[in-house]
Amino acid sequence: MSESLQALRGMEDLLPPASGTWQHVENTLRGLLLDYGYQEIRVPIVERTELFKRSIGEVTDIVEKEMYTFDDRNGVSVTLRPEATAGIVRACMEHGLLRNQRQKFFSTGPMFRYEKPQKGRYRQFHQFDVEALGFAGPDIDAELLILLARLWRLLGISHVSLQINTLGTAETRQRYRADLSSFFRESFDLLDEDSRRRLDRNPLRILDSKNAELADLIARAPQMTQYLDAESAAHFAGLRTLLDDAGVAHTVNPRLVRGLDYYGRTVFEWVTDRLGSQGAVCAGGRYDGLVAHLGGEATPAIGFAIGLERLVELFALAGQPAPTRVPDVYIVAAGEGTSRLAFRIAESLRNDVPPMRVEVHCGSGGFKSQMKRADRSGAQVAVILGEDEVAAGAAVLKPLRSGPMGAGTEQQTVAVASLADAIRPYLAGPLTGPVIETVR
Ligand code: ATP
Ligand code: MG
Repeated sequence: MSESLQALRGMEDLLPPASGTWQHVENTLRGLLLDYGYQEIRVPIVERTELFKRSIGEVTDIVEKEMYTFDDRNGVSVTLRPEATAGIVRACMEHGLLRNQRQKFFSTGPMFRYEKPQKGRYRQFHQFDVEALGFAGPDIDAELLILLARLWRLLGISHVSLQINTLGTAETRQRYRADLSSFFRESFDLLDEDSRRRLDRNPLRILDSKNAELADLIARAPQMTQYLDAESAAHFAGLRTLLDDAGVAHTVNPRLVRGLDYYGRTVFEWVTDRLGSQGAVCAGGRYDGLVAHLGGEATPAIGFAIGLERLVELFALAGQPAPTRVPDVYIVAAGEGTSRLAFRIAESLRNDVPPMRVEVHCGSGGFKSQMKRADRSGAQVAVILGEDEVAAGAAVLKPLRSGPMGAGTEQQTVAVASLADAIRPYLAGPLTGPVIETVR
């Protein structure tokens, strides 16, 4: 294939069997969120550029250099969403979902950022995003973190740890910001280009710098805790008590500021040492100022996003295989008239109660090669149809693996009308559980 037709850099195809692992991780997350009372919201992948600029903030990596922005055919500047919060908040405002109401939402899908592609970092990547709007906390802050701790347990992931911090209110942040700014200005010569640019407009972001040469300087910088107002301090203490009660271990990281401008009070990040330099799996925080900033009525809110590529990778490293979905029955058919009977039997087994999972062999081939496929499919039994069986209105039932106690191991010829009853004993027991198994 010519290079000009290949996928764009940083935009990956998801193929089986990896897609099966993704489904398991996504189903686990979706089930967990529904159980905690969160509802799904779906918003467009493309929005007006202005929305992201206003909500994420002009002096951020995302807006400065990572957005996929272009003019549509009408000359309107639009952007492929780099994150989900902006679109969800817009939708809530547009549909009046915040008037004297509280909302607990989740959403999932692709995000786009023009970054240097590498392991764990792509240009199209995927997030699960959770937002709770209308809640002042700290109870809801705790719920989100407790829910995430349960997610790691459900997926058997142990190498993640929780860092939290509080950014206070807009007023405390302003005082802190001013002091921080003069602190860094005194060491202007030591700063890198990015940090110099941030000095005036967003000095907090300097704390977030990944430049190792700045680590010493940043360690000596004033800390938010010294500026915290009493209410924010109480909020933070309240959150920590609830986390302690629930046994959710956490460390306070005073350097944790998050990249986005609209955060205040609680911020957090789940990090791992298993994914090289792409150590952040899940990040979030409180954005009490955003709705008002976008022209709505002040609404407290908090949310987080999980990077699915990194989550799936962590799940795979934990070594628990994702449950796979295998057919109960594989139908092998060769000879005149066998296809029609195969389809009739398949549909009637699928109609049985409870329904059987049936795969019909398609694409012809002799008995031997079909039986190989039947075996590889993982099915419990094969139903074999030849011209003799069609003539007799019967089928050969062949067990493919050792079944539950009481199910025979010999193949037998069964009248088509009683096939379902003959198959059922092979499906009894734990192997016939619900299609989506819950790990608890
Ligand atoms: P990083 O510091 O790794 O760039 P970030 O602060 O930009 O992360 P957020 O905007 O908080 O990330 O997004 C939440 C999560 O989305 C991250 O913790 C990460 O798991 C995932 N994520 C962010 N950018 C990418 C990307 N380019 N490719 C894959 N996953 C990503
Ligand atoms: Mg980033």
